Amino acid sequence: MLICRVALGDHVSFAAVEGITDEGKVGVDTSVTLIEAHPFGDITLADRQVSANRVRFLPPMLPSKIVAVGKNYADHAVEMGGQVPAEPMLFFKPNTSVIGPGAPIVLPATSAQVEMEAELAIVIGRMCRHVPAESAADVILGYTVANDVTARDHQRSDGQWARAKGYDTFCPLGPWINTDLDPTNAVLWGAINGEQTQRANTSSMVNNVAELVEFVSGVMTLLPGDVILTGTPAGVTALADGDEVTVAVDGIGQLSNPVAADNGASPWR
Ligand code: MG
Repeated sequence: MLICRVALGDHVSFAAVEGITDEGKVGVDTSVTLIEAHPFGDITLADRQVSANRVRFLPPMLPSKIVAVGKNYADHAVEMGGQVPAEPMLFFKPNTSVIGPGAPIVLPATSAQVEMEAELAIVIGRMCRHVPAESAADVILGYTVANDVTARDHQRSDGQWARAKGYDTFCPLGPWINTDLDPTNAVLWGAINGEQTQRANTSSMVNNVAELVEFVSGVMTLLPGDVILTGTPAGVTALADGDEVTVAVDGIGQLSNPVAADNGASPWR
């Protein structure tokens, strides 16, 4: 099942997606069937199916936290001038950094080097702690696509990564969750303005999905909707105002976002 979260007028709901294109995008035949309540537990479909062109796709969940893993592909560790750490290296992205498909990634004026990172994202399905790798599938709702947007200059200068990884809009997620993906053998890729910059198979992760769930849940309680970002392969590339960046996992779909300079238009100023 493909699970999304959509806005239909003023109404926000989880929904099941059907009829996506072969490329993993919304097409003329795409529709959504609303899910009653939430998808964590037994899923009940509401008696309401609407065309996808009537809804706006939101991030597929509202995570209490986003736990990310650094240098989980050897080729990316090398391009960063380092090597694979002995244990998974964890960091957080704030849940306020999450945006959905089509929402703009805003380049902060403080950074001259904001880069994309295409990643497979694990979506946790139920509260858990100390999950052994062999039981990881029991606590996973499914998988979506993430862009771990990073201010690389701040990452280098700050010593820790809260600022580099934490700006608003720095965590596009979506377009939906695939509950049936095999996470050990999926092609992920990234592209800027249609030109591919990253491509790898999840089989080349240093620590696989099950191992990451064991490691992270050994540290902290995971809640339904929490997200684990599993790292990015080589090819991370800087973004510029006006770009369109796409990250994708074959078997899930394509997540595209425009890139815009911070023009001071935030409603929070
Ligand atoms: Mg990353």
